[in-house]
Amino acid sequence: MNRIYNYSAGPSMLPLEVLEEAQKDFVDYQGCGMSVCEMSHRSKQYDAINNECLALIRELMNVPDNYSIILVQGGGSTQFEAVPLNLLKEDNLKADYIVTGNFAKKAYKEAMKYGDIHLAASSEDKTFTYIPKEFDLRPDANYVHICQNNTIFGTRYTKLPDTKNVPLVADISSLILSEEIDVSKYGVLYAGAQKNVAPAGVTIVIVRNDLISDGLKICPTMLKWKTQVEADSLYNTPPCFSIYMAMLNLRHLKKNGGVKEQQKFNEYKAKLLYDFIDNSDFYANKVNKEDRSMMNVPFVSPNPDLDAEFVKEAAANGFVSIKGHRLVGGMRASIYNAMPLSGITDLIEFMKKFELAHK
Ligand SMILES: *Cc1c(COP(=O)(O)O)cnc(C)c1O
Repeated sequence: MNRIYNYSAGPSMLPLEVLEEAQKDFVDYQGCGMSVCEMSHRSKQYDAINNECLALIRELMNVPDNYSIILVQGGGSTQFEAVPLNLLKEDNLKADYIVTGNFAKKAYKEAMKYGDIHLAASSEDKTFTYIPKEFDLRPDANYVHICQNNTIFGTRYTKLPDTKNVPLVADISSLILSEEIDVSKYGVLYAGAQKNVAPAGVTIVIVRNDLISDGLKICPTMLKWKTQVEADSLYNTPPCFSIYMAMLNLRHLKKNGGVKEQQKFNEYKAKLLYDFIDNSDFYANKVNKEDRSMMNVPFVSPNPDLDAEFVKEAAANGFVSIKGHRLVGGMRASIYNAMPLSGITDLIEFMKKFELAHK
């Protein structure tokens, strides 16, 4: 077996142990004679998977009792629509958005279809290389939306905006389970699975109970959080296999000390890579230092031709999907939970060699 280092921003690496566990049970799940892929979502085996997955999210993220957790389909992108459809009111269509990157902007644009949507701050003036610190927030908005870790630009909020009594809604697709967060500070959190949780297919939504309602009249049944809250996420056929993989990955995380230990490990890995880049006069990271992401590390070499050469040579040496997003160029190392320490140290060794050869 020759496992490569995969720096993709998503879908991304899963722990080898988790993949092997799934492989062991793939054809015959726990002696029931069929695969989870073939199993009725109304069976007692699947019910146990659904319940354990939900319970592990609650435990590992320390989700308070007054919040509901649901598992839905459609990825983070579908929540860009679900958020306004669930949270806007027929007699108050106001919501405020902070735009710090491509996904934050997409969420903002979707919401504009449904309400009175106000841009409270943006960092587009400096190509999203920082997190704004001042916000023009409306006290009567239904919610304030942020994207907490900006996957493409490599920034993250280290301090949340003070929204007073207005619920904070956060897209945590590329941050979930990577660092401890205080769920009680948010109204709604959502995340697609394929960055840090499971294969693509399931999306985790955590909603404070007082925000669960029928939403706008036009809100489709399938986008209404209330539908899945009332049905324990079994209103329709869920992405069973993705949820099963999430359960295995959450078990693995719990066994290894939970989010707290994972955060320490992620801080260590990110620091190694950023320190190397900062101490180099060949590579550079253009993001405001205090706003740097722990999960997505964009960097450049002295010119775009060398960037292209870097990406090519890296792939030939087993460091794949390290090309930066087309909006940013250069390189981007996505170093999610499952990236082993050797995936950082070996990459740094490769970067040193590349620099020597091309300086
Ligand atoms: C990947 C990503 C999305 C989009 O997720 P899909 O599951 O592809 O819809 C949204 N927001 C953030 C922050 C992401 O990283």
